[in-house]
Amino acid sequence: MKASDPQSAKVPSDNQEESAFTHQSTINGWGRTTSTRVHLECPTSEHRLQDLLTTSLGPVTVRGAGRSYGDAAIGPHTIDLTGLATIRSFDPATGIIFSDAGATLQALHQVSVPQGWALPVLPGTSRITLGGAIASDVHGKNHMHQGSFGHHVLEMELMLASGSLLRISPDTHSEEFCATVGGMGLTGVIVSAAIQLLCTETPYLRVFRRKAETLEAAMDLITDSIRTPSHAVAWVDATREDLRGLVEVSTPASTQMLSERMKNKLPPAPGISMRNIRTFPGRGIVNDRSIRWANAVRWNLPLGAGPRIVHFTAALNPLDGASFWPAAFGSQGLIQYQFCVPTCSHPVLREILEGLQSSGLIPALAVLKRFGACGNGLLSFPQPGWTLALDFPAHYPGLAAALGHLDTVVANAGGRVYLSKDNRLPAEMVPLMYPQLQRWQGTRARLDPTHKMGSLLSQRLNLLEL
Ligand SMILES: Cc1cc2nc3c(=O)[nH]c(=O)nc-3n(C[C@H](O)[C@H](O)[C@H](O)COP(=O)(O)OP(=O)(O)OC[C@H]3O[C@@H](n4cnc5c(N)ncnc54)[C@H](O)[C@@H]3O)c2cc1C
Repeated sequence: MKASDPQSAKVPSDNQEESAFTHQSTINGWGRTTSTRVHLECPTSEHRLQDLLTTSLGPVTVRGAGRSYGDAAIGPHTIDLTGLATIRSFDPATGIIFSDAGATLQALHQVSVPQGWALPVLPGTSRITLGGAIASDVHGKNHMHQGSFGHHVLEMELMLASGSLLRISPDTHSEEFCATVGGMGLTGVIVSAAIQLLCTETPYLRVFRRKAETLEAAMDLITDSIRTPSHAVAWVDATREDLRGLVEVSTPASTQMLSERMKNKLPPAPGISMRNIRTFPGRGIVNDRSIRWANAVRWNLPLGAGPRIVHFTAALNPLDGASFWPAAFGSQGLIQYQFCVPTCSHPVLREILEGLQSSGLIPALAVLKRFGACGNGLLSFPQPGWTLALDFPAHYPGLAAALGHLDTVVANAGGRVYLSKDNRLPAEMVPLMYPQLQRWQGTRARLDPTHKMGSLLSQRLNLLEL
């Protein structure tokens, strides 16, 4: 949301020292559960960004495209980075792209994909910013092969709360680098980054869809797919006892596999469109009946005779074509509970889904993926094992207590909840789930000794406390 939005209003400052923040606006997370009136600025120069950081008393929150589900990108003084979005250079010989952090992944692809290079890691939406991708250390459906976003960052420029710039990489200031990857915007503002892209013969994928009669069969199909470089995901039907699912495995398509029409097709134009979609009134249209209906329809869709050739955006970013999704959950919005557990704890997945069924809390969407190596960030979410993302209408009675119980189950299984999707985790769970928390806090405090960086998430979870 930009300071120029109709929702935004110019206001007199309530404090002389905070005069650089002159606009107020109401912002929320993608799940639309938390709407907050904040001071919001959208700088279009590094100088202005520096001014905002140094004149505010804090806490200052950095915001990218606002696609984290909860309160990670919301704070009393929020800086929207989407005004600093210039792609500074791209070298088609090496596949290195260097860009301002406010550029979206979609915009990076507009430049690189026609020249045969793509981001090695793409989350479920490409309408996020480069800075947001690094700060959450996002993962895709190919985590077993490519790890998470931070593994491909060559270098970053970090503007500290003091206004000074620090160049950090896995080799130079490596501790600061590891605190910033997955660091939820709390070490400073990522101003720009250089990313190593992956050479691709075509921007198309060969998508194989299979039905799995049970959750365990879906896990087996995903595990089998690991032998070849692929993206793998399962949509689990959490309405049924067998927990059947549809498994989608995608491998790169070669030029010979494409039709002439495909060879000439350009990727869709960039744009962030969610803000125009009105929320359905009351409890929305997502309820027990519609969830059961949608799962049955998805299961019964014909699989087709063989693999389909699909543009990678259609295969990897399906929700980008369904921007109404959060609006459908009604005025209280949507809570996504995404957690991961180590490979050896996989029986916990069935235990959790069966427990939710017996409490009558059926997720509208249940998406299963496999994780490989840990991220290189101290607070990175991925760890070797399985991750399940569950979408619930926030108005479900008993949801808060049920998710509170799941936190304990997940932590006892050696797992963790994804902070970028969270708006409800209790603070005491964080040290149990993120064993490197203390080390991260120490490094973070050296970068920001006055605790100027912050967010509703960091306050709620006491993240900055040493
Ligand atoms: C439909 C959908 C599908 C998704 N699928 C996935 C998925 O498959 N895998 C996955 O990992 N995530 C997924 N996500 C989550 C999303 O990728 C992350 O929340 C991502 O961080 C959002 O980026 P953003 O630009 O919108 O950042 P915001 O939501 O605005 O901010 C997210 C965090 O990044 C920080 N931040 C943003 N910009 C900067 C910067 N320049 N410098 C420092 N900190 C910054 C913010 O302070 C905040 O803590 C999905 C989200 C949606 C809506």
